[in-house]
Amino acid sequence: MRELLLLLALAVQPGWAAEPPAVARVALYVQFDQTPPEAVMDSLRTELDSIMAPVGLQFDWRPLAGGSPEVTAELAVVSFKGRCDSTSLPPHTTNPGALGWTHISDGVILPFTDLDCGGLRAFLGEQLLALARGDRDGALGRALGRVLAHELYHIFANTTQHAPDGVAKPTYSVEDLLSAGFHFAKRDALAMRPH
Ligand SMILES: [Zn+2]
Repeated sequence: MRELLLLLALAVQPGWAAEPPAVARVALYVQFDQTPPEAVMDSLRTELDSIMAPVGLQFDWRPLAGGSPEVTAELAVVSFKGRCDSTSLPPHTTNPGALGWTHISDGVILPFTDLDCGGLRAFLGEQLLALARGDRDGALGRALGRVLAHELYHIFANTTQHAPDGVAKPTYSVEDLLSAGFHFAKRDALAMRPH
C-alpha cells in the first residue's frame, strides 16, 4: 500500500527539468507577404525552439505553397503580414495593437495564426535602431519567435485564456520582446505538452 501511494505521488508531480518531456513533431506551414532575411528566420527558429524545448514540441518548417500538405497529427499555419526585415525602421515607437492573432470559429480555436511583422517593426523600431545594424535582424527575429510561441500556446494548450506572466501573458512590453530571456511559466508549458 505504501508503494502504491508513492507511485501516485510521483504521478501527480512530474519532474520539470529532470524529466525530459515526450516529444511531438509539429508541421508549421508558413507564408509571407515579403520573405524575411535569413538572419531574421534563423533567430526566429532558434527562439521558438528554445521556448518550446521544455514543452516537448519540435517544429518542421514548410512553405504553405509547396504542394499538398502531408497528413500530420499536429500542424499550424502561420501567415507573416507586412514587412519582416530591419531596414528603414520607423524612428518613433507606435503602438500597433495586436502583434499576432489566432483564428477562432464558433468557439473552436483553429490552427491558423497571423503575425504582424509591420506592427512589430513599428513597436520596436526605436529600440532596434539603438542596436548595431548587424544585430537588428536577430533581435527582430527573436521578438517574432516570442509572438509566435504565444499564438502557438493558444493552439496547443487549446485555450483562449492568458496567464499573469511569461510567454502566455496577454500583452508584451518592448522589454519582454527584446530582453535576453523570455519563457513560459511551468503551468503554461505543461498545458501544451503532448499527451
Ligand atoms: Zn493571446
